[in-house]
Amino acid sequence: MKKNSDDQLVFLPLAGTGEIGMNMNLYGYGPDIDEMKWLLVDVGITFGDDSLPGIDIIMADHSFIAERRNDLVGVFITHAHEDHVGALAYLWPDLQCQIYATPFTACIIKLKFEERGVDLKGYLNIVDLDSNFKIGPFDIELSTMAHSIPEPNSMFITTDLGTIYHTGDWKIDPDPLIGNPNPRNFKEKYKNKITAMICDSTNVMTKGRSGSELTVRKNLVDVVKKLKNRVFVTSFASNVARLETVAHVAKETNRSLVVVGRSMHRMISVAREVGILKDINIIINEKEAAKKKKSELLYLCTGSQGEPRGAMMRIANNDFHGIEISKEDSVIFSSKIIPGNEKKLYGMFNKLSEMHVNVITEYDEDIHVSGHPCKDEMIDMYNWIKPEISVPVHGEHRHLKYHSELAKSLGVKHPMLIQNGDILRLAPGEPEIIDQCISGRLYFDGNKLVPSDSYHLSERKRMSFNGTLNITCILNKKLKLNSPPIISCNGIDLFDEQDDDIIDSLEEEIYNFFDNSNNLSKKDSKVHKKLESVSKNFIFKRTRKKPLTNIHLVHI
Ligand SMILES: [Zn+2]
Ligand SMILES: [Zn+2]
Repeated sequence: MKKNSDDQLVFLPLAGTGEIGMNMNLYGYGPDIDEMKWLLVDVGITFGDDSLPGIDIIMADHSFIAERRNDLVGVFITHAHEDHVGALAYLWPDLQCQIYATPFTACIIKLKFEERGVDLKGYLNIVDLDSNFKIGPFDIELSTMAHSIPEPNSMFITTDLGTIYHTGDWKIDPDPLIGNPNPRNFKEKYKNKITAMICDSTNVMTKGRSGSELTVRKNLVDVVKKLKNRVFVTSFASNVARLETVAHVAKETNRSLVVVGRSMHRMISVAREVGILKDINIIINEKEAAKKKKSELLYLCTGSQGEPRGAMMRIANNDFHGIEISKEDSVIFSSKIIPGNEKKLYGMFNKLSEMHVNVITEYDEDIHVSGHPCKDEMIDMYNWIKPEISVPVHGEHRHLKYHSELAKSLGVKHPMLIQNGDILRLAPGEPEIIDQCISGRLYFDGNKLVPSDSYHLSERKRMSFNGTLNITCILNKKLKLNSPPIISCNGIDLFDEQDDDIIDSLEEEIYNFFDNSNNLSKKDSKVHKKLESVSKNFIFKRTRKKPLTNIHLVHI
């Protein structure tokens, strides 16, 4: 695209800046927000928690780019972690743009679209690792990093207004087993030529270095060698290097590998499709395992975060057909305890401990390394790239703040602290937030996406805290009760402190209400409101609860 004197280059995170999860970033090039061409990088999800009953999956509000989909030149998915790819099959039908990904990520995208029943219609473009290609006005050069999944791509995005380095998720690992051990190679040609670096902030507050996958491999061999009976190892299925490590450990310790859990099998077959894990041929199934001695078995299981349906939790509950965990078996959690999952995991550790099963976590042995760079790796990166502008992303506010201070201390001229929805001009001139767009969250509820401020979601939350109360009154023409009101409730104790039946007393209260209200309005909405307030007050007095109340009036 020919440079126009009014052209600008902007960065706009729709999600993932100020939070860890659901990354969705836009780069815009053109004279004005409404005349720009947009490149989308990553479309991820985050997961619901106990505060959102019934919501498992959350993603970014994509309305800004959906409204401009004719100017969306394409989406590149940096890697196949859920926080980068998870929402694509949900939101792409509103975008209908070209999708670009490297082979492993492309396989995962295909599976996700198949699962959602969304037709890719030939929109998926598979690009090679470390390749160059063009998407609209953006010239892209990929550079493979090391991370905790195959094919973590960082991107050099060049326009007439400069080159941006979008790191994606990365770390420096001299022996990553899968991935690039030396990202430094890349980069001589771009040194001192990077306008802005948009960089992962996850572990910036952790001193030192993240460590190497090879160390995990060596340590796991040593740990497993000492164990008797069966050994269960659980890890993220997407950490393919770790899966390979566990297969290696099985071989080194003369155990047969049993792979348990659908996502583990699925990830192994995707990896094999793109030429990874080709050498793992020692996997046996659960039936064959039953014939072997306990000391000859090593199980690789899903469920490292205590997911209720994950293989590890089901095994711990002795709810997994064909696998019975018992005394003196060992369970190794080769994974991080992700904040928020402690309760589920500690519950599982206790359950295993009660059965006299040996539990080994990253706190006991060095059997896990993070896939994100710690402070010293970040310092290396800044020294290699020397960007003019630094934009910390992929972190909570405290991480972003710490990261921008670090960038400043390393001589970056413009460390920029921005948040979701900020439209940051990177060039020409000094960086500046020039506008803000609507950013927010969409919840996947049942089978549709709903805005996070949806009334029915707050109603559901109230129900989960306070229960429900349903009252049906059959009224004659004089607006008096024709028969006793029908009352039902959920989630409320039916007897009060004096052991009186609350429903009986409420029935009486409703009779009194109709008996004493001689000039009730003929308007149902008014009767409704009054009766609701009488019933709610009554229940609150007796139970100190404010249930969600439904009143039904039937006239005969
Ligand atoms: Zn990642
Ligand atoms: Zn990520």
